[in-house]
Parts: sequence; structure tokens; C-alpha cells
Amino acid sequence: MINDLDQILSASAKRMKRSVIRELLKMTQRPELISFAGGLPSPESFPVEQLKQVVVEVLDTDSARALQYSETEGDKRLREILVEKYRKEGLNININNLIISTASQQALDLIPKIFVNPGDKVICGLPSYLGGISAFATYGADLVGIELDDHGMRPDLLEQKMQELQRKGQKPKFIYVIPDFQNPTGICMPERRRLEIIEIARKYNVLIVEDSPYREVRFSGTPQRTMYELDSTGQVILLGTMSKIFVPGFRLGWIVAHEDVIDKLVMAKQNTDLCTSSFVQKIAAKYFDKGYFEPNLAKTNAMYKEKRDAMVEAFHRFMPKGVKWTEPEGGLFLFVTLPEYIDAEDLFKIAIEENVAFVPGTVFYCNGEGKNTLRINFSFMSKELNIEGSRRLANAIKRMIKE
Ligand code: PMP
Repeated sequence: MINDLDQILSASAKRMKRSVIRELLKMTQRPELISFAGGLPSPESFPVEQLKQVVVEVLDTDSARALQYSETEGDKRLREILVEKYRKEGLNININNLIISTASQQALDLIPKIFVNPGDKVICGLPSYLGGISAFATYGADLVGIELDDHGMRPDLLEQKMQELQRKGQKPKFIYVIPDFQNPTGICMPERRRLEIIEIARKYNVLIVEDSPYREVRFSGTPQRTMYELDSTGQVILLGTMSKIFVPGFRLGWIVAHEDVIDKLVMAKQNTDLCTSSFVQKIAAKYFDKGYFEPNLAKTNAMYKEKRDAMVEAFHRFMPKGVKWTEPEGGLFLFVTLPEYIDAEDLFKIAIEENVAFVPGTVFYCNGEGKNTLRINFSFMSKELNIEGSRRLANAIKRMIKE
């Protein structure tokens, strides 16, 4: 082993941090512990029997291509299926606007790879998805956080920040938003808010990265149009993934963008993995072609709705006064705000004694704020454990509440 590793590591390797959530998850493996920490889909949502059939069919009919290297852009049939799906929604795109990625996390790495130089500003929500923030930071992005309200990123603060940066001669590379059931808050941006953010992005000529893994994980209410559709000028890069609507283990996602951006992303992806698994893409395309996708998604959403309802009811029943939480119409998370004097990292230790775990919200704040917040996942545990875990969490909070 080289003994001066620190001397030879690159600046970007030195910027890399271990995911706090992944470290927390290691601590929460005890069987008696109810963990609301991960962002995991429920294994009950995995269409195992259908996949057995599809996998055999792909191997029987298309093994030479399914097991071979394939195009960096992705499997043509799968891209056509996704383009068709978006066109039905109203997006004016063709196959040249969409490439397959090795799930969204790869997209969150490729995007700063092609846009960010060390020291460049990137705007994100306060709070925002940790995996996004951390990927951007690895490329040396200087993250600028904008507070959210009940409808998502606040346009007044965004405008203010843009003006401030403009005065200093700085132009952010992009604005990172998760408009549909945001991770970690669960907030879904109404159309008006989306338009306000787009307007500001246009005014200052800044790209928007619309990361949307939870868009189709909706239990009630009306789907909002994507920012990509609302913009229609090529200013938005839209990310999608199969992780929450099919299976995360396939590591299958996609990027929708202007052709010129796609072109650069393809080059960046070539250096990373040449292509996303050909086999997995063929399986996914056949799964869609057989019409299995929609019914399974509807079943999954019905199950998640029950789990969310159970958790929200339990919160109403057990939580002490002074605790607030979001009640989203979709996604996988509730976001909890505690009285200001309670630090969720201290609560975490007490909660572990009560055999329940969550993610302290501060990890999602690029400025280190959010000490009194926490993220709760409701999709992974059973309905019964969601209720019992909420009771335990409320007990832990009560131990810290000053009357
Ligand atoms: N973006 C957001 C907002 C997420 O919540 C996640 C997963 N939790 C991802 C991207 C990455 O998802 P994947 O790589 O599985 O597509």
C-alpha cells in the first residue's frame, strides 16, 4: 500500500464524502429496530413473477444483443417507449432528446462533469437530495442554497440571490430542483411555482436540472406538468428513473435534454461505463411492451397510499404539540420539523434507544442548517410497523420536549 496516499489523491477525490445516510443505514440493521431512514421502495412492489417470464423470453429470443455491449445512448426500443410516454403527456421530444443512464445517480454525476469547474456556483433547495448535492460538490461546485416554502423553492429568494451573484459577476451553472414530491420534504411544486422558477432561469440564462424520480409515485391529486414541458426552450434537463416505479436494483434511468447537451452527456457517459447494462434495458423494454408497467405501478401506489395514511394517522395520534410534518400526495417521505431547541442528531441517539431510526434533516442542507428537522420514509416498512415506529419516534421526541 502506498503510504502517502493523501499526497497523491486528486482534489476531487479529497472533496468526496461518504454518504451520511449509507453510514446511518449500517447502524440500523438490528432486526428489532424500525428504520424510516432509507429511501427504499418496498420489495412487495417488485414484479418478480413477471420478471422471471420476461428474463427467460429475452434470453430465448434476443440473447446475442442482450448480453453484448450496446449503444451508449441506450437501447433504441426502450428509448422509444420512454419518448412515447412523454409525448403522450405533452412533451415535444424525439429519440435524440433522450438517453438511458445508469439510474439517476449517474446523471447527477455526468451533469456536473460537463458543466462544473471548481468554484462554479450551483443553486439547490434548502433542503435538497443529498446524493445530488454531494455529486455536484465532488466536481468543486460551490452550492448556494435557497429556502423552500410549502410550494417548493422560493422564487423571491432565488431572484434576490441571482441579482446578488450578478452584481458580483457570477453566473450559476444550473438550478437543481426536485419539483415532484421532493426528497427530503415530499413537497410537490404547483405549476405556478414551476413557471416562476423557469422565468427566473430564463431571465438570468441559467439551466434548470429537474430531477424527478417520484413523479409517478402519486396517490391523489393532479399530476403537474414537468418543468421541461413548461419551458420548451431547451433550458431544462429532465432526469427520470425506474428506481421508484419499477426496480432500483436494475440501475436504470434516463436524461431528457436539448440535443447539444445530450451529445456532451453521451461523451461523458462513454468514459464512465460505455453503456448501461444491455440485458437490463432489454428486460425493461419487454416489460413495458407486455403492458406490465402501468398495472404494477397502480398496485404499488395503492400500497404506498395505505402506508402513508397509516403513518400520517399515527403522527396525528402520537406526536406531541410543537411537532410539524408534511403530508405529501406522493413520493416516499414525510419531513418533520421539531421545536427549534431540539437537535435531530441528539434525537437520533434517543430514537435508537427506542428502536426507531430516521435521517437527521441537516444532511440535506448544503449550509448546515435544518438541525431541528428529520426525514421519514414510509414506503419500506409495513403499515403496522409505520404505526409502531411513529409511536416510538413520538416517545423519543417527548423525552426531549420542554413543557
Ligand atoms: N434523485 C433523487 C431526488 C433521489 O431521491 C434519488 C434516490 N433516492 C436519486 C436521484 C437517485 O436514484 P437512482 O440512482 O436510483 O435513480
